[in-house]
Amino acid sequence: MEERDGRREMDKQIDDLFHDPRCTSAFFDRHGGEGRSVFATKNVSFGVGDEAAVVRKNRELVRRALGLDALVSARQVHGDRVYCSSGEVSGNLSGEIDGVDALITDRPGAGLMIQQADCQAVLLFDPVRPAIAAIHCGWRGSVAGIIGKTIARMGECFGTDPADLQAAVSPSLGPCCAEFIHYKEELPTAFHAFQVRDSYFDFWAITRRQLEEGGLSRDAITVAGICTACSPDYFSYRRACRTRDGITGRNCSVIALRTTDAAENTKG
Ligand SMILES: [Zn+2]
Repeated sequence: MEERDGRREMDKQIDDLFHDPRCTSAFFDRHGGEGRSVFATKNVSFGVGDEAAVVRKNRELVRRALGLDALVSARQVHGDRVYCSSGEVSGNLSGEIDGVDALITDRPGAGLMIQQADCQAVLLFDPVRPAIAAIHCGWRGSVAGIIGKTIARMGECFGTDPADLQAAVSPSLGPCCAEFIHYKEELPTAFHAFQVRDSYFDFWAITRRQLEEGGLSRDAITVAGICTACSPDYFSYRRACRTRDGITGRNCSVIALRTTDAAENTKG
């Protein structure tokens, strides 16, 4: 029963974001995993108090769902450092790269995984090179300009032309719930134009603007438009703070280049 329910719930994920057989990607919701109580059910973070064995199982479910050789993730710190994975990719699902919030690679089979609850995962696909990026972008990342820095790094590492990039922005805190009481101290004045009502900001629009400033065309950007604090299908830090102590799981967003075999299998 668990297995059948698991598969059914997994179907709720938003996947194949770039409609290209060379790329696989998904924004997973919190269903279909093995966690309990506040971590029910598909928490992918080792850093929130969930059982490590359960987290490993959930990551394995994600890896298998997308048919990947490995998942690469980071111990995210709301900073602006970018990690370029160009060497051998470890298959160790517990291993995390310390202190970075964006991952880029051109290696097929390696899934770049972002863990987020209200923060955005911004996934980038360069179909020309091809190369990919996965960015963890909360408000601090927005302020630090991590999106622009990641686009620049793709240019340095892979020769990516930003005009070729496509972007998908995960379910995350919407303008309905993004209240920043201390915005005058926390947010630069350039963000104040994105205030939708008193102390509430539209970070989806801020990200769109930053992607466009990075060189993407408007029609190459897709925003899921689902607020994690409003939707019970996603872990949400803000919702957990309203009702409890803020302890909750992390949603999972993944992008990967397919290996040649996997890409061939999706044809016909
Ligand atoms: Zn909301």
